[in-house]
Amino acid sequence: MRKLLLASNNQDKIVEIRALLEDISLELLTPNDLGIAMDVEESADSYLENAARKAKSFGQATNLVCLADDSGLEVDALGGLPGVCSHRFLPIEGATDADRRRYLLGKLMGYKRPWKAHFHCTVAVYFPTGEIMSCEGNCFGEIIPEERGTNGFGYDPIFFFPELGLTMAELSLEQKNRISHRSLAIRAARGILERYSRYNMINPSESGWDKMDT
Ligand code: IMP
Repeated sequence: MRKLLLASNNQDKIVEIRALLEDISLELLTPNDLGIAMDVEESADSYLENAARKAKSFGQATNLVCLADDSGLEVDALGGLPGVCSHRFLPIEGATDADRRRYLLGKLMGYKRPWKAHFHCTVAVYFPTGEIMSCEGNCFGEIIPEERGTNGFGYDPIFFFPELGLTMAELSLEQKNRISHRSLAIRAARGILERYSRYNMINPSESGWDKMDT
């Protein structure tokens, strides 16, 4: 079976991505499985650049096909912030997801509701030939001022779907994986991953993905 390295140290993301790819005949590996401890700087100002940097760094270190994602929450009232800085939004050493949620809500207090927002995810796949393919997904909802639910991670407890009456953190893994930004991006990546699993031959020009020069 061909190998695919999930180039992330975020266990919550790994759980989601594994479930999304479990029916493809690939051996899914994590940096942990390989005993690799690498922290790739995510300081670029685009999701694509950060995802590509992660996929390429792990790919060059292991010579494996690598999939990385970079994601974030964009709130309309804040002009799209925290966006690509979602993880670094609260610049305090040791800040937790809960601290970031509180900080975001503090910033929103002066604004009229609904606080419309969306999650964005860009997925990049690096091939040892040097090619990087990418695709994207977005998921729309609104921020609510009180936390609901305990599933998921990050901003999930305050990201609400008015049409469902539930937050992202009140969805099961299966439900989140039907509608999330990450699931949409990974779904768009499935074609090329399936082809890689079967033929070990990638023809980016036929994939329908965006191709980057590296
Ligand atoms: P990164 O892709 O690891 O840089 O993630 C950036 C940050 O965006 C995470 O630390 C979370 O705070 C937030 N984020 C990304 N994806 C999700 C999600 O699926 N749910 C909730 N928060 C998310």
